[in-house]
Amino acid sequence: MEKDVKKQQNNPGKLFVISGSSGVGKGTLLKELLNRNPDLKLSISATTRHPRPGEIDGVNYFFISKDEFEKSVQNGEFLEWTEFNGNCYGTKEYYVKKTLGKGENLILEIETRGALQIKKKIPEAVLIFVLPPSIEELEHRLRGRNTEDETTIQGRLHEAYREIECSSQYDFRVVNDDLNRALVELEKIINQELAKS
Ligand code: 5GP
Repeated sequence: MEKDVKKQQNNPGKLFVISGSSGVGKGTLLKELLNRNPDLKLSISATTRHPRPGEIDGVNYFFISKDEFEKSVQNGEFLEWTEFNGNCYGTKEYYVKKTLGKGENLILEIETRGALQIKKKIPEAVLIFVLPPSIEELEHRLRGRNTEDETTIQGRLHEAYREIECSSQYDFRVVNDDLNRALVELEKIINQELAKS
């Protein structure tokens, strides 16, 4: 297995954008990827969504009010932002620019609308979409979480179908049928792209 995702000295860092419907296991996949590759950094987004049990402000997200979010939008602070299932999510531009400027490789874990905004602004960003093995499996995983009501689950499923359609515009698609296999494939893509820089 490849473990040498290295910081590119004297070069700007590389930007990877990873998307995938909620319930696809993208969180676990990313956690493993970051554990094994400490030179990769994960960006922390701002959101108006309420924290789920166990989520920490400044670690999982910056949980902010709708007013604060709107102010940041008006001040042009977001590189990208979107509304997703009733909440707003956004990536602060200064953080991305600062991190890449230091030569660090950054991962954004964001949904498809935001990812496509990034690709327009930063064409060299690498877009990777994590697919579920099947729609049935995705629904099963989403319900298994037991943290959300039926309306929220239906909303997430609806977004999932839309996002899977959008994934044809991504540079790479990885099926999360098996965590270790998907992890190896993801690392291979990242290492290949870093070797090009
Ligand atoms: P969740 O509420 O499950 O944490 O996230 C819902 C969706 O929002 C996920 O697909 C996640 O990738 C996406 N997301 C998280 N942060 C951002 C962001 O900064 N921008 C965009 N466009 N999507 C985000």
